[in-house]
Amino acid sequence: LFAGETEFLKGVVEMDGMPPGDLLEVCFAGRSNVGKSSLINAVTGRKALARASNTPGRTQEINFFTAADSHYLVDLPGYGYANAPVAIVAKWQRLLKAYLSGRANLRRAFVLVDARHGVKVVDEEIMSLLDRSAVTFQCVLTKIDKPSKADLDKVIEQVRGALAKHPAAFPEIVLTSSEKGHGISELRSIIATLI
Ligand code: GDP
Repeated sequence: LFAGETEFLKGVVEMDGMPPGDLLEVCFAGRSNVGKSSLINAVTGRKALARASNTPGRTQEINFFTAADSHYLVDLPGYGYANAPVAIVAKWQRLLKAYLSGRANLRRAFVLVDARHGVKVVDEEIMSLLDRSAVTFQCVLTKIDKPSKADLDKVIEQVRGALAKHPAAFPEIVLTSSEKGHGISELRSIIATLI
């Protein structure tokens, strides 16, 4: 499934531009700088696959990756930029809502949360949107190499508490570090069972 064959397909800014829902897909969401590009690259085994989504001007696009025409991996735009203009945020929310309610082939959303920070208000908003869209989501903690064991345990408890409020949440939290390679094969296995 992830033998290095994953390719960038396209970045889209409106529903019309999305590839047909002919293949199953999973998507990745998270605050900007949460480590989403690094995680997608680690999971797919490619060094710079998801870098395009980080270049200025592309941040509001939904990026589709595909592997051997068997499934899509979908990189949603990072949210929670400090000084994002209201109009841009509104446009992004419209696109995200349309995406989440319009893709019958979407099997699961992975909501990435920084292991140092835990679930923030903007993450809660995305989780509520996923509830309303009836899209099952699973929380992935990123950068677990950063906090101490004690701090990580506290964050895990905070995340558990937050997830308990969301009917669409899958209870199991995936602990990852793209830098150290923790949890990457586990995440690959989860994705493989979904698509
Ligand atoms: P994105 O904006 O969510 O796509 O985040 P990036 O993947 O670009 O990562 C943001 C920053 O976090 C970069 O400086 C990365 O080097 C760093 N980072 C990403 N993953 C990890 C990780 O697992 N451990 C550590 N220590 N840093 C990471």
